[in-house]
Amino acid sequence: MTHKPNLSHGRGYLAIPGPSVVPEAVLQAMHRPAPNIYAGELVDMMPGLIADLKRVARTAHQAAIYIGNGHAAWEAALCNVVAPGERVLVPATGRFGLGWADMATGIGADVDIIDFGKSTPFDPARVAEVLAADKDHRIKAVLAVHVDTSSSVLNDVAALREVLDAEGHPALLMADCIASLGCDRFEMDAWGVDVMVTGCQKGLMVPPGCSFVFFNARAQAVRAAMPRVSRYWDWVPRSEGTVFSQHFAGTAPTHHLYGLRTALDMIHGEGIENVWARHGVLARAIWAACDAWSAGGELRLNIANPENRSTAVTSLRLGEGDGTRLRNWVEEHLGLTLGIGLGMTDPADPKRDAYFRLGHMGHISGQMIMGMLGGMEAGMGALDIARGRGALDAAAEVISGA
Ligand SMILES: *Cc1c(COP(=O)(O)O)cnc(C)c1O
Repeated sequence: MTHKPNLSHGRGYLAIPGPSVVPEAVLQAMHRPAPNIYAGELVDMMPGLIADLKRVARTAHQAAIYIGNGHAAWEAALCNVVAPGERVLVPATGRFGLGWADMATGIGADVDIIDFGKSTPFDPARVAEVLAADKDHRIKAVLAVHVDTSSSVLNDVAALREVLDAEGHPALLMADCIASLGCDRFEMDAWGVDVMVTGCQKGLMVPPGCSFVFFNARAQAVRAAMPRVSRYWDWVPRSEGTVFSQHFAGTAPTHHLYGLRTALDMIHGEGIENVWARHGVLARAIWAACDAWSAGGELRLNIANPENRSTAVTSLRLGEGDGTRLRNWVEEHLGLTLGIGLGMTDPADPKRDAYFRLGHMGHISGQMIMGMLGGMEAGMGALDIARGRGALDAAAEVISGA
C-alpha cells in the first residue's frame, strides 16, 4: 500500500480578498500586555499614527478612526453628511456598491442607483447625465466604490471629480477604498475626493476591527451644516489625535493600534509607490497565468480589459461547479485558501459554483503568488479541469521581467 501524503502541512496562504495575510511583525506588535489608554506610549503615538494613515490615503486633510469593520465606516461616512430624506447617487459595479447604497437606504437617504452590472467599470458619462438632470442639486453625494471586491473592477474615481466639476454640481465625492487602499494607486487630494472610507484588514494588513473615514474641508463644511449627527459616528472628535485619551470616545482599540503602527511602518518603509508597483507586477503575473489557462478551457477573468482590473483582487470563473471544486481541493490538499465568488450570480444559478476570487492584497510576495498559481495548476490537474498550458511560465516571465 502506498502512502498518500497530505501536502497541506506547513505555512498556508489565505488568498481571500480580506481579511488579508497579517505580517508576523504586525502579529508580534499586537502580542503584548494591555497598555494604559490614558497616558504613555499609546497616547503619544496617536498623532503620528493619524499622520501616517493620511500619507497612505494621499491626503493632507482629516482622518477619523472607528472601532468597526468596513460596514461601520460606510455608515459613519454617510451619517456625517447625509440626513434622512436627502439624496445620494450610486454608480454600482458589483455587490459592494449595492451594499453601500443599501447602507444609505438604511439611514433614510433617498438612493439613486445606476447599475453598471458586474463586469465593467462605471461610465462617467452616464453619471454626468444624471447629474446634469439634477437641476436643483438634490443629489448631496456620489458614492463610488474604487475597487468592487466582488467583481474586482477598478473604477476611475478621478473621472467623477471631472464630471462633477464640469456640471458645476456641488455633490460630495465619496469613495470606498476598503479593498484598494495600500494596493491600487489612490490619490485622495489630487483626485478631488471629499470623503474616503477604508478598513484595516485588507491592504493595511491588520486583523479586522478598525476602519477609517478621511474627509476634507468641503466635507467638513457639509458636516457642520447637518441638523444633527449621531454621537457615535461623529467624525469630529474621532479625527483628533487625542480621541481616545481626552474625548473618550470609548476605549481605544489598543492592540489594533499597535498592529497598525507596525503595518504603516512597513508600508512607508517600502514606499507607497513601491507598494503599488509590487501589487501591479504580481497582479500581471496572475493575469498572464489566467490568460494561458483560458486558452485551453473555460477559465475566464471577470474583467476583460486589464486597465479596468484591480491589482488587489481577481474575480474569475471556471466551468459550472469547478470553481468550488478547485477551491476545496487546494485548501484540503495544499493549505491554500482561495476566495468564494461573491455577488456574481443569484443563489439559484447553477453557475454560482463556477465563480471564485483570488485575494492578492497587502503582505504578498512573488513566491506567494507563484505558489498560489502553482497550487491552482496542481488542483486543476488533479481534478482534470481542461486548461491551456504554460500558465506558470507566463507568470514567471512577468516576474522575471519586472
Ligand atoms: C471588504 C469590503 C467592504 C466591507 O468591509 P467589511 O470590513 O467586511 O465590513 C466594503 N467595500 C469593499 C470595497 C470591500 O472590499
